[in-house]
Amino acid sequence: MEKRVFGVTGVEVPVIGQGTWQMENDDRGGAIRALQVGLDLGMTHLDTAELYGRGRVEESIVAEVIAGRREEVFLVSKVMPSHASYEGTLRACERSLQRLKTDRLDCYLLHWPGSHPLEETIRAFEELVRDGKVRSWGLSNFGVDGLEEAVRIAGPGRIACNQVLYHLEERSIEHSVLPWCERANIAVVGYSPFGNGDFPRPESPRGRVLTSIAKAHGASPYQVALQFLIRRPSLFAIPKASHEEHARDNAAAASLKLSAEELARIAATFPMGPDTGELPVI
Ligand code: NAP
Repeated sequence: MEKRVFGVTGVEVPVIGQGTWQMENDDRGGAIRALQVGLDLGMTHLDTAELYGRGRVEESIVAEVIAGRREEVFLVSKVMPSHASYEGTLRACERSLQRLKTDRLDCYLLHWPGSHPLEETIRAFEELVRDGKVRSWGLSNFGVDGLEEAVRIAGPGRIACNQVLYHLEERSIEHSVLPWCERANIAVVGYSPFGNGDFPRPESPRGRVLTSIAKAHGASPYQVALQFLIRRPSLFAIPKASHEEHARDNAAAASLKLSAEELARIAATFPMGPDTGELPVI
């Protein structure tokens, strides 16, 4: 699995990782197996959050997946904005560590901008780094204004990543968030790369373009989408798969090579749309 430097952390992280949102609704054994197979195939960036299943995903799925293989994993969790005061962030991190049965996170994110002052959240993040409880911290669902505020507070070179909605039908980050993050050396982690399962149907005109490119490579349309979404060195993707065959398909997407013409065809088929200045979220 190809790895890339994860922004300012200097750590090499696989281009394709694994999401865990809504896994509490899936067959637990199947989800655990899919994540383990994903790890075996190099998708060692695991994304979770205290929010997911109200802690159940961390506690009863991710903890089991990483047991005995913590060293392999780049483990990411998130604090909910309602908990993101200084004290609240420290406590939320402790709870996540307990549920995950580990002593550290590789990256800890603010799930989306909330009403607690960002100074407090960042002060807590920096303390967690000093205490060795998190190796790095980042943001999620932050637009350029919020990112600028965060850099004003934290100083340059502190924010590891911004995790944002990014899939073929939702390319808004390309207008300003992606270029801004690239200039600041902040990794951009695209979430919901398959639109949370709302993927172009094979019989639709757009779906047919993906299928024809996929066929030329003996690949799947999902793999073509993932390659497009990681086509720049700042980009990472975290698809969620509770089925082993999906995890295998996603891992193999990292080695698919698309030509410049094919990437341009995909870009033209799924145009960016106008810049509304809004950052879409799911
Ligand atoms: P997604 O990855 O866009 O789509 C998941 C759906 O696609 C599932 O139904 C899955 O099926 C299916 N799938 C996965 N791989 C496939 C393949 N190769 N072929 C066919 N179908 C495939 O969904 P998501 O969960 O919304 O996003 C991914 C992750 O991003 C989340 O799990 C979460 O970790 C993160 N996220 C973060 C935020 C945030 O605010 N920071 C928001 C949303 C999501 P099965 O599961 O049945 O295998």
